[in-house]
Amino acid sequence: MKILTLSDVVVDLVQSPLIAQRFKDVDLVLSAGDLPLDYLEYVVTMLGKRLYYVNGNHVQQAFHEGQGGMRTVEPEGCINIHHRVVNHRGLLIGGLEGSMRYSQGEHQYTQREMSLLVATMAPCLWWNYLRYGRAIDILVTHAPPQGIHDGQDLCHQGFRAFLRFMEVYKPRYLIHGHTHLYRQDARRITQYHETTVINTYGFQIIEIDEATLAQPRRKPKEAKDRMVKAGWIK
Ligand SMILES: [Zn+2]
Repeated sequence: MKILTLSDVVVDLVQSPLIAQRFKDVDLVLSAGDLPLDYLEYVVTMLGKRLYYVNGNHVQQAFHEGQGGMRTVEPEGCINIHHRVVNHRGLLIGGLEGSMRYSQGEHQYTQREMSLLVATMAPCLWWNYLRYGRAIDILVTHAPPQGIHDGQDLCHQGFRAFLRFMEVYKPRYLIHGHTHLYRQDARRITQYHETTVINTYGFQIIEIDEATLAQPRRKPKEAKDRMVKAGWIK
């Protein structure tokens, strides 16, 4: 399964009439946030493939008369996977939106709030363990994990909870954005335990062999012990 991942900047190669030809073998699109709605809608329309996304800290808003002013608008035809896990043709994909809280804006969380969001995903992830022998294959986030591809300023610091998420649930990939890459040699990929962390800034292509998904990689007992130890389940 070939996956096109997007975030943060509009790429001419993607927003092009040739998109369907260039990415014809892509099965799925994942967006890690901070992209214009019309860009996501263009991709989903032109490729005709499922697009799952999480919001970044910069989201488009629209004024709605009689509805109390500005509110976030969702891209049409795309599916928001914040705080849940979906099963796409056997591939388990989850999402966690937003960045560290640095202002009063939407989609911002403190370390504590993000830890709570991760903790409350435990029942759903545990159910996946029981059903599929694994909790999740890909976690899509906007912000990076703490200490991996993150920055020093509050806005660009990564979340500690994502490290714990990877230690306990062992997703194959954590796809994030938020950290802009201005140099060709900037670090984009880091291995953390069993997870490949990718900053998709712009776009990336990842490929997953579907045949390997069916093999349970962890025994439920072992997984449960980890979750109990993390305090996420009793
Ligand atoms: Zn951002």
